[in-house]
Amino acid sequence: MNRWTQLVHFDSEIADPYRSNVTPLYQTATFAQDDVLSTQKYDYTRSGNPNRTIVEKQIAILENGKLGFAFNSGIAAINAIVGLLQQQDHIIASNDLYGGTFRLFAQRLPQRGIDVSWVDTTDVSNIVQAFNKNTKLVFIETPSNPLQKITDIKAVAELAHKNSALLVVDNTFLSPWLQQPLSLGADIVVHSATKHLSGHSDVTAGIIVLNDSEIAKQIAFIQNAEGCGLSPFECWLLSRGLKTLGLRIEKQQTTAQKIAEYLQNHALVKQVYYPGLKNHLGYALNKKQAKGSGTVISFTTGSLCFSQNIIRNTALYTLSVSFGSLISLISLPSAMSHASVPEQQRVAPHDLIRLSIGIEDSDDLISDLQQALQNAEQQHFNNRREIA
Ligand SMILES: *Cc1c(COP(=O)(O)O)cnc(C)c1O
Repeated sequence: MNRWTQLVHFDSEIADPYRSNVTPLYQTATFAQDDVLSTQKYDYTRSGNPNRTIVEKQIAILENGKLGFAFNSGIAAINAIVGLLQQQDHIIASNDLYGGTFRLFAQRLPQRGIDVSWVDTTDVSNIVQAFNKNTKLVFIETPSNPLQKITDIKAVAELAHKNSALLVVDNTFLSPWLQQPLSLGADIVVHSATKHLSGHSDVTAGIIVLNDSEIAKQIAFIQNAEGCGLSPFECWLLSRGLKTLGLRIEKQQTTAQKIAEYLQNHALVKQVYYPGLKNHLGYALNKKQAKGSGTVISFTTGSLCFSQNIIRNTALYTLSVSFGSLISLISLPSAMSHASVPEQQRVAPHDLIRLSIGIEDSDDLISDLQQALQNAEQQHFNNRREIA
């Protein structure tokens, strides 16, 4: 089945006597048992629920994987993956990760006796050097957040396997619509489904997809034993959001490319980070391993104060963390999503602005940036005159 068809036609495997076109919401904590001795598919929603099964199957198909798991946040999903590890185990992680992942790894894992090495994974030789006999996981984001660095998934997968470690790819930035890490050799794919997968800024959710049934058993155990599975209504909303994944991403990405090119040619912009620009360091590699460049653009201006003023002057970009929403967002990662990363370890410049492009009209979005840059420059000029 073509993936456009797949998004809206998938076998829910649920025998609904009324043949509803949308899977009903099973908003129940418990299921009646046939007999005191019978075991059945569902008994208690923490352990499993039809709405969760459906969204887990759907996302596994989209990621070209065998088994999917839905969690109550992206961080809960990542925490379930590191739950596979034991004391003395070691992780190699990209030094440009989502701030919340950094916090989990840097502040929670040492308490559990798990060691983390932070490396620039865009250069595979850094990973080679970081391996030790206890390394169990390599954890990457590509493109990374917010600098959009590209890591070679296939090369890192081969390297991890040579060292008996698993490769985990956080695929939140591109979504399976644009990149399928399992097909490139990754062992586990993880998502913050809060972003593109749900797409409407109304759900917090996380997803894991993998192929190995032994690891899947452990993940299923953690999901049930630690009670971090996604609740029925959130699963239902996520299923609804997924149906428009292709439409949303294609539209948002087309606009993102236009805006990235506009910013690149703007005299007041210092550097634009977007993998769809030919001068981006990871342009060729991203083109090889992904079907697109995504919907997020970062750029610097050379001045923190000027960047703050641009943000204050935009009207169509909501000042907000997160990305992958229908509405366009603007943020200053160093003060927002990445504030929990200590200064000396933070790779994002202070003046870096991150844009998440929504489904609005592209000309409207460009005009708004144009006036915001102009007004910010005028204010900057006036300020300097006052000081002088
Ligand atoms: C948001 C995000 C997460 C965390 O997901 P939550 O749903 O907020 O818990 C993890 N990785 C990346 C790349 C993210 O953007």
